[in-house]
Amino acid sequence: MGFNTTLLHSDRPSSDTFGATLPPVYQVSAFACDSAEQLEKVFNNRAAGFTYTRAGNPTVEAFEKRIAALEGGISAAACSSGMAAITVTLMTLLSAGDEVIVSSGLFGGTLDLFADLKAFGTTARFLDSVTYETVSSAITERTKAVFTELIGNPKLDVADIAEVSRACKEHGIPLIIDSTTATPYLINPLKHGADIVIHSSSKYINGGGNSISGVIVDGGSFKWSREKYPRFGDFVKFGPFAFTARLRNRLWRNMGCCLSPFNAYMNLVGVETLGLRMERCCENARALAEYLSGFEGLTVNYPGLPASPYYGLVQKQLGGKGGAIVTVRAGSKEKAFRLINSLKYASVATNIGDVRTLVIHPASTIYTHSSEEQRVSAGVYDDTIRISVGIEDKEDLIADFGQAVRSLGEDR
Ligand SMILES: *Cc1c(COP(=O)(O)O)cnc(C)c1O
Repeated sequence: MGFNTTLLHSDRPSSDTFGATLPPVYQVSAFACDSAEQLEKVFNNRAAGFTYTRAGNPTVEAFEKRIAALEGGISAAACSSGMAAITVTLMTLLSAGDEVIVSSGLFGGTLDLFADLKAFGTTARFLDSVTYETVSSAITERTKAVFTELIGNPKLDVADIAEVSRACKEHGIPLIIDSTTATPYLINPLKHGADIVIHSSSKYINGGGNSISGVIVDGGSFKWSREKYPRFGDFVKFGPFAFTARLRNRLWRNMGCCLSPFNAYMNLVGVETLGLRMERCCENARALAEYLSGFEGLTVNYPGLPASPYYGLVQKQLGGKGGAIVTVRAGSKEKAFRLINSLKYASVATNIGDVRTLVIHPASTIYTHSSEEQRVSAGVYDDTIRISVGIEDKEDLIADFGQAVRSLGEDR
């Protein structure tokens, strides 16, 4: 089956009495059992079933299974947000004194999170570029994970996963990839050597901008040892499922970062058109980036343009598609604001992966808590605008951006 066929036919709900074509929304908090004995069994993982939506729910599980299958993982855990997914993943494997190697081109919320995690004794070592060489030389005996975005949002640097994972494997460190901006349509990081993949499914997976959620996919590939990860304790006996078992039975459940069944349902509806939307918005982004590159006074960043240093990697690793985010430097903050305000179709909003085109000035919003140095290494300048390209007709987008840029008086 191809990507789009898989999305529709890989796991049809077979047990539904009425033949429903989508999983029903089990919008309940608790699940009743026939007897105290039965509830005891379900509670102790000795019988299949559900007890309480914070620990599991059939609609949420349908979403988890769909994403695990799409990414080629052994299991997935859905969360209330992408940030919850990142937080609970890191807190599951780190102890005080541990280090994580992190790309500095990260999403602003994740950068802020690493600052918060310092209070728990964990240190992030930021690398301006995440490669085999930089990762190999940054690893110390305290390093417990490498975390990077596949296509950095908004730096738009692309990680060579096969290379980075080679460095991780040589040192026995798990590679965690935030693949939000790439989506399973462009790449399955687990198949290229990543161990855990995280998505903010609020973005492309949902696609309609109607629900916040996140999902953690476990590749089952990393060997968790008690010596290196003492907090795993007895969970190491689950072998490839050790991470998932520890996550689901401990912090994920105990922090209560569960996904609402209704939002899981919205994601299940949205993900069915992931392939169609990605094909369309990646092509729109490429066309818009190419068009905007023709204006003097604008600096366009898009990994799918031949001028990008990541063009080769996009061909090799992402099937030639550079994703659906474009950043543009307008020359000054004032011009960036004027450009944004002159657009007819793009909504001024802090989100990506919506069907509609969205535009934002990251420095004054998402990166408002970051230092100047952090901003620059995340590719955020005072004159940068980020465009999350939607599925509108590309002629309309190009015409709209064209009139907005010309209103700056920069037309050559
Ligand atoms: C949006 C985003 C997040 C955070 O996800 P939320 O669902 O907003 O909590 C994390 N990583 C990346 C790359 C994102 O774009």
